[in-house]
This record gives sequence, C-alpha cells and structure tokens, in this order.
Amino acid sequence: MSREFSLNNTRNIGIMAHIDAGKTTTTERILFFTGRTHKIGEVHEGAATMDWMEQEQERGITITSAATTAQWDGHRINIIDTPGHVDFTVEVERSLRVLDGAVGVFSAKEGVEPQSETVWRQADRYNVPRIAYVNKMDIIGADFLNVIKDMRERLQANAVAIQIPIGAESDFVGVIDIVERVAYKYKDDTGKDPIQVEIPSEYADQVEELRTELIEKVAELDEELTMKYLEGEEITIPEIKAALRKGVCEVKIFPVIVGSSYRNKGVQLMLDAVVDYLPSPLDVPAIKGTTEEGEEGERPSSDSEPFSALAFKIMTDPYVGRLTFFRVYSGILKSGSYVLNSTKGKRERIGRILQMHANARQEISEVYAGDIAAAVGLKDTTTGDTLCDEKNIIILESMNFPEPVISVAIEPKTKADQDKLGIAISKLAEEDPTFRAHTDEETNQTIISGMGELHLEILVDRMFREFKVETNVGKPQVAYRETFREAAKVEGKFVRQSGGKGQFGHCWVEFSPLEPGSGFIFENKTVGGSIPREFIAPIQ
Ligand code: GDP
Repeated sequence: MSREFSLNNTRNIGIMAHIDAGKTTTTERILFFTGRTHKIGEVHEGAATMDWMEQEQERGITITSAATTAQWDGHRINIIDTPGHVDFTVEVERSLRVLDGAVGVFSAKEGVEPQSETVWRQADRYNVPRIAYVNKMDIIGADFLNVIKDMRERLQANAVAIQIPIGAESDFVGVIDIVERVAYKYKDDTGKDPIQVEIPSEYADQVEELRTELIEKVAELDEELTMKYLEGEEITIPEIKAALRKGVCEVKIFPVIVGSSYRNKGVQLMLDAVVDYLPSPLDVPAIKGTTEEGEEGERPSSDSEPFSALAFKIMTDPYVGRLTFFRVYSGILKSGSYVLNSTKGKRERIGRILQMHANARQEISEVYAGDIAAAVGLKDTTTGDTLCDEKNIIILESMNFPEPVISVAIEPKTKADQDKLGIAISKLAEEDPTFRAHTDEETNQTIISGMGELHLEILVDRMFREFKVETNVGKPQVAYRETFREAAKVEGKFVRQSGGKGQFGHCWVEFSPLEPGSGFIFENKTVGGSIPREFIAPIQ
C-alpha cells in the first residue's frame, strides 16, 4: 500500500463557529459536495455521522469531536469537528491541537458573536491559520462587509475580503472571486454547477476597490511584492495567491469568503479556498516534544521519520467498541503493529485502523504522517497521550485540560445499579479528561464534576442512554467546603430567617454555583440538605 494523497495535498481542518452560525449545515454540505454523501440530510442519519449522538441533534449542538475524511480536487480533507458551545471549550482546545487550519463560520446577520469570539481567541492562542466564511447571506439583515468590519474591530483580525456576494437576502444569487476577477451564479438552491459569468457591471467598482485593498494587504506581507507594488508594477494572480497563502499559514491574514450553506451557495468555492490557502502538514512547524533522555525533540511531518501520534479523542462506538482518534505527526503506522504509549509507559497493540467518511467507515492497513484515523482496541490510551515508535521515544506536547468548575451528587435510582454507575463513570472519564468523579468521605455520596451544567447534563444523559443507568442528581451535601468556610466568616448575612425546624437556628447557607442555598452547616458542622429559597436573603 502507498499513499493515496501526498502530504502536500492533505488538509486537516476544523470548522469553528458560534452555535447557530451554521457549522452543522456547512459540514453537511461539504460532505455532500465532496461526494461522500448522496443526499443532503443523510449525514443526520445512522451512526457514521458528524453528529454522533442523538442528543446532539435534539439539542442542536455538536459536542463530540469526530474526524471525517473527504476528498476535493485531488486533496484529502480531514474535517475535525469542533463544538460551538462554551461548556465544551476543552473539546475546542483538543481539536485545535491536532488541526492545521480552520474555517471560522460567521452569520452574515449576527457577525461576531460572544462565543465566536471565545473560539477565535482560542485559535489565536494555538496559532491556527484561518479562513472566515460569512454564512447565511440569504437571510434578512445579511451584511457581508459589516461582518468584516466586526472581525477587524472585535477580533482585531487582519481580515480581508477575497470574495463578495452578488445580491443579499433573498436576492443572494452568486459570488464574485475578487482575486481572479470572475463571478459565479447559481441557477437554483441545489448548488450544483455554479455558472461562471461576467462580473455584473454594478459590482465592477466595488470589486476593483476591494481588490486594491487586498493587494495592499498582501504586499505588506512580502518584501518583494512591497517593492513591486511601490514601483507601480502589476501583481499577478499567482503572486497574490502565493503571498496570501504564505500570510494565512503564518497567521498574519484571514481571507474572508461568503455563501449560504443552506442554499448550497459558496460551498464549492469554500473548498477551493481551503485547498488554496489553508496549510498542509508541511506548512506548519514540526511538533515538539520531550525525548527519552529528557531533551527537547521534534518530529517533522514526514513518512520517513519515526512514528509519532497524539490521541485526541476516545469514543465508544456502538459497532466496534472503543475508538481512539489520533493524529499522526510523523512516520507510518501499520495495523497489527505495536507502539509505545510514551505518556503512560505502556505498550499498545494497534488492532484495526479506521478512517471515517460521512456515510462509511473504511478499514485501512496503514496510516501516514499528517493523517487522522481511529484505532480500535487500544486499552490504556486516553486523550492527550503520545503514541510512538518503541525505539524512538518521544512525548509530544499535549493539551492543557482545565480543572472542572461545577459538581453535583449522583446516585442510581435503584441501588442494584450502583456497580453499573461506577462502570459508566469510569468509561466516561476515560473519554473526557474534564469529567471527574469521587466519593465524598463524610457523606459517602458520589460527586461528579465537569465544565458546566450542560456538560454534566449530557454526561448524565449518556449514562442513561449508553449504560442504561437511571440516576438521581442533586446538590452535594458537602459541596465546596472552601465556600462554606468563606461563608462562615460572614455569619448572618445569608440567612434571613433563623429558627424554622430547629436546625436552621444557627446556620450558614452555602452558595454553590448551581443554586444558592443548596446546603448548610450548623454550629460549624455540615448538616447538608437543602434550604428553601425563601429562607435566603441576598448578600448585603
Ligand atoms: P450550528 O449550530 O452552527 O451547527 O448551526 P446549524 O448548521 O445547525 O444551523 C442553525 C440553523 O440555521 C439551522 O436551522 C439551519 O437550517 C440554519 N442555517 C444554516 N445555514 C443557513 C443559511 O445559509 N441560510 C439560512 N437561511 N439558514 C441557515
């Protein structure tokens, strides 16, 4: 077996967006136009979809970070799914860690929204090259140039239009490519075969104006072009493209494109832009790590380097069991071979290797530098672990997982399910490094912690769906002892009414992040329980 796509022709990308900006629709359309799905909407059905879990669809958000492989114009595009909800910023972080570039999706009406800002800043932190896609050009209030202005002001991003829409709202009918000076119109909403047309005369001035702005910005990125520009020489299309690509790869400039995924407009041109401007694994710096001798090392993207990979997502698949998604940075991995999990110091056997397509999974016998795949049957590997050649040991830079911020108590509805609950918790914790559990020493309650209410709700829901454990969730009797101590310092301030049933006589109200009054202490000893809201006075 040999490589189907060269490293140069590989793109590992994420699609990042605020909820509702259209990430799911855009991903779905990409998979449709790359020919892997046969009818629009198909990716919503079956198990091999981007949205793996029913609840994601019910909630309309994407939580998991599956990777899907597509093909476009002789290139392999691996799409690493990134979630849009702020509770899952850790999922965003882990996907940012393994992708080389991203498409940031914005709504043409809403522009930069609070969470798009959060995600954008995370991508800034990881130095991720990006293209911005202004989606929903067909909706009322859509304003392309306003989104660019928003990006410049709110994200301090060096954003530059490389396309403009023809028409807006219900009159949005096509896209003008400013670089090539060509226009594309769509016959209808099927999006098939956009027709190349002359630039409509009413747009001619705007195109030239924006093209000049683009050339100025591109020239700033390249000394040779600056000279040419200053001397009034013409800068050719290949020169613009090459300089823009370099600027994008160096995270100095963000080209902005436009479309309406829902109306199938602009998606093929987006794929062209991904190929043209986003980096291949060869265009990004080699990953760094620590060698066996404790020295700094790196693994350049090449098949001839020793094997190294990072596990970035563990998922339980209903058909094949435990899947470990990994990004290969260097070398070649064969199914059936042994690797070292250098983070844990354990040898792991690679069973089957799978590549996920929109509606099919393909078993492959080898995976190469720069690629993304899933291994079946790894026992000890968890998110963030390095897998490497047994004789060339390295631990790659991993991700930082934040500490959980919220806790609840959990118990099975029927006592007989206690063991099942334990199994569910340990499996879920293996998948998700920001999910923790412990047993409280004093109360013997099982306490689970995570990144937010929604995060925990989803995990509890999964315990029910995947592990068939029905649970009761409540406020921990002893939540946040530290908080109690703080509260104890300001005696009296939290309780309006003392007395009650005696035990309210002299108590402190605990203010957990979930809800105020979720526990109390009596004469400096924790009693637990819940104080009705009406007993609680606001902090003076
Ligand atoms: P996500 O939360 O970012 O994954 O967003 P979705 O792809 O689920 O889209 C949110 C909503 O916006 C859905 O109802 C989509 O049908 C709708 N939508 C997405 N893209 C477009 C678009 O280009 N035009 C219009 N009119 N609606 C869109």
